[in-house]
Amino acid sequence: MDHTKINLLVRLQHLDNQIENIVSLQKGLPEEINALEEDLAFTKRQIEARAKTAEEHLKLRQSFNEIINGCHERIASFKEKQTLARNNKEYDALSKQIEYEEKEIAQAEIRLQDISHGEQRTEELQKKGRQLIEENRYDEISEDMMPDDVLQQQLGDLEKQVEHKKEELNSIVIETEDEVKGLKKKIDEQREVIKAEAKRLLDKYDHLRSGTIQNAVVKLNRNACSGCNTRVPTNRHTMIVQGGFYLCESCGRIVVHERLFEEAEG
Ligand SMILES: [Zn+2]
Repeated sequence: MDHTKINLLVRLQHLDNQIENIVSLQKGLPEEINALEEDLAFTKRQIEARAKTAEEHLKLRQSFNEIINGCHERIASFKEKQTLARNNKEYDALSKQIEYEEKEIAQAEIRLQDISHGEQRTEELQKKGRQLIEENRYDEISEDMMPDDVLQQQLGDLEKQVEHKKEELNSIVIETEDEVKGLKKKIDEQREVIKAEAKRLLDKYDHLRSGTIQNAVVKLNRNACSGCNTRVPTNRHTMIVQGGFYLCESCGRIVVHERLFEEAEG
């Protein structure tokens, strides 16, 4: 067996591991930022929905008040006409019109009351929410219970957190940019060499790494594959010690002697 081929592959794994280590520095940050951004969007939607409701209420109030004012004006004019009525028939007809306008007023007032009651309920819910916050009973707070000012505060906090995490991630990316670039170049070169010398080994390596496995080549550790801890048969140890490789029967990883990794680092 040509042991130099496996050495080439171990070197590639070593380089890929280095990139992996750098990426792991930012581990969690991109996911954390995503989660925060989702919370942020949710909070924004809540605030917008509340603003929209408030605006709708304002418009409805205005329109019902206009209706009521119009009714009052017409009633006043009907009443004036009644003083000039020439007979009972004319007078009664005007009374009916006044009655109609009064009904309109009553209906509009009911609608205005409904709006007020709705707002009172909202206020009470938020009051309850504030109380629960004071008692640290956050689990019991529903969306509607979140007081307006707390929601606004939450929005500000989330925006700050997202910004902070993004800066953190960005600084890591900038700090490691050159190193990653250098490693990527080395990896490309190494892959070219292996492609020419041991294409099948490279295919095996890429196939293993196409799933969730990053460490396709692993060390023999206490006579086991260090990728999955399955024991390596004794009759294969000599070959591994001599610098060969063994394909783990359990996980398929390429198992080599740790000496090869030390050589790859050197
Ligand atoms: Zn294994």
